Amino acid sequence: MAYQPKVMKAEIVSNNTKNGLFEVLVHLKDRTSCRLTYGKDTATGTAVASHINRLLYEPCPICRKDFLCNCMNKYKEDISQQALELVGTP
Ligand SMILES: [Zn+2]
Repeated sequence: MAYQPKVMKAEIVSNNTKNGLFEVLVHLKDRTSCRLTYGKDTATGTAVASHINRLLYEPCPICRKDFLCNCMNKYKEDISQQALELVGTP
């Protein structure tokens, strides 16, 4: 079954108004936590997620590794969209 991330909680943890970069800490339903790094499209001002990093509190919900893996990259868009719905664009 395909992994379906569900964002339960999101908070903006840093926001640089000078360059438009900001970071959101996200908690998923399966206890996975991720840090999303966003930049803003210079033309439209739309927030675009550039990176997603899984925090290593819990094993990866996809490959079950408890160290670095790249599984979450595939779900970056989905998770980032859900996160922005919760916190909005700073
Ligand atoms: Zn993984």
